[in-house]
Amino acid sequence: MSSPARITHLIAGSPWEGTAERTSPVYNPATGEQTGVLDLASKAVIDEVVANAKTSWVANWQNASLTKRTQVLFAFRELLNARKDEIGALITAEHGKVLSDAIGEVTRGLEVAEFACGIPHLLKGGFSENVSTKVDVYSIRQSLGVVAVISPFNFPAMVPLWFVPIAIACGNAVIIKPSEKDPSAVNAVAALWKEAGLPDGILNVVHGDKEAVDALLDNPDVRAVSFVGSTPIAKYVYERGTANGKRVQALGGAKNHMLVLPDADLDLAADAAVNAGFGSAGERCMAISALVAVEPVADPLIEKIKDRMGKLVTGDGTRGTDMGPLVTREHRDKVASYLDVEEGSGAEVLVDGREADFDADGDGFFLAPSLIDKVAPGMPQYDDEIFGPVLSVVRVASYDEGLKLINDSPFGNGTAIFTNDGGAARRFQNEVEVGMVGINVPIPVPMAYFSFGGWKASLFGDSHAHGMEGVHFFTRGKVVTSRWLDPSHGGLNLGFPQNV
Ligand code: NAD
Repeated sequence: MSSPARITHLIAGSPWEGTAERTSPVYNPATGEQTGVLDLASKAVIDEVVANAKTSWVANWQNASLTKRTQVLFAFRELLNARKDEIGALITAEHGKVLSDAIGEVTRGLEVAEFACGIPHLLKGGFSENVSTKVDVYSIRQSLGVVAVISPFNFPAMVPLWFVPIAIACGNAVIIKPSEKDPSAVNAVAALWKEAGLPDGILNVVHGDKEAVDALLDNPDVRAVSFVGSTPIAKYVYERGTANGKRVQALGGAKNHMLVLPDADLDLAADAAVNAGFGSAGERCMAISALVAVEPVADPLIEKIKDRMGKLVTGDGTRGTDMGPLVTREHRDKVASYLDVEEGSGAEVLVDGREADFDADGDGFFLAPSLIDKVAPGMPQYDDEIFGPVLSVVRVASYDEGLKLINDSPFGNGTAIFTNDGGAARRFQNEVEVGMVGINVPIPVPMAYFSFGGWKASLFGDSHAHGMEGVHFFTRGKVVTSRWLDPSHGGLNLGFPQNV
């Protein structure tokens, strides 16, 4: 066993050379081995990085031409595309998701960089000539300054990429605070920005926990915060950040329902439920965790799902398995505890993932796909975001009962309907109170040129991630009303300006 490697901040293009007062262990979840020691930033380190980023922004990026910015973005896009296998391997080593899935998340992040390459077009303002006699009005969008991105463990590369390319393209300096559980992918992607020609100090990575997050939220020179994580922390970040006068978008947790109507193609629905329930070990904010079966569909659908689950191999994500481990031992144990259903509750564990064999060496954090039937509101299996490979089946009598269940959920991130009835699907897309909706598509993650975000407790703030909402979030609008000197329009007039 080799000794754990030091993982540190990347500030102004270079690894931090200080000595951390506190550190945190990083594990390979497939073996249980500690592979890294992560430096945790203190408030003093954060304040220094913010000051440095602000200076770099003023000197090198605030007024960098659109041509210069797009040159960096195109170069970054090429480098990320060329290195996505390497980044994927880093993700698998610290997160545990299987390699193909890890490379897939880099590819989805790459799409945001591609969108941001179009920034000259996206930032074009409007111009109206002669709004009044010889008066013109035009709108422009300008950068904010230093912005912070605080990301969760479950998409260590993709979630930062939802924000960073657009923030940089819009002319801001960025500080990323990744999850302390799988920090290495962000460092590797940050190195590509430097290689792409981004001036030092425009992108900085600081590692840390609550102390670092609080320091970012309190520093007056951080103008905007993009946060993704669990609902309680998202709410906290939103409240503290906005109380300090910042613009904040805080994406929170989820409990995603898949509604299956009796006329659905059950093979398609079973494939979808298994893929969306157990992909990435259920550690996706768009994972399906509640399968809402409109009777009489539950029994035949469950049979098909169990059949598919029996074919899945859980194990080390570098070995071509279907599903990897959970991110930490604590999280694995918490997820497994949901398989202890309360006696007399009516719920039945149909497949218990604790009883499986795993294709791995060492002492990894594994739990195989699990299925619980007859789950209902009021049970922790229904009410909590489990964030693991546990799929719950909720049986309902009608479309209306299923819809009410979904709309009563405090979360509103993603949902899907499976049906062959276009009218029912159309009604669902109109009536459901959820931000991202799939029709015969289980994980409806929007493309980069649309925006990603949920409703209710799944998002605090009013700006979703990427797409035009991202461009607006990372810029401020300004409208200029201009008149070139014309003596015939001079003179005193204390009245409110009116157009003539
Ligand atoms: P988390 O809330 O524990 O951590 C997210 C970030 O907040 C991390 O960078 C972490 O260091 C920081 N943090 C943790 N505790 C903090 C505290 N007390 N004060 C300040 N900062 C703190 O989330 P996680 O476990 O890393 O990620 C999983 C969660 O993220 C799930 O709930 C999942 O649904 C959610 N998520 C949501 C989306 C979305 O788009 N809505 C996307 C991905 C993940």
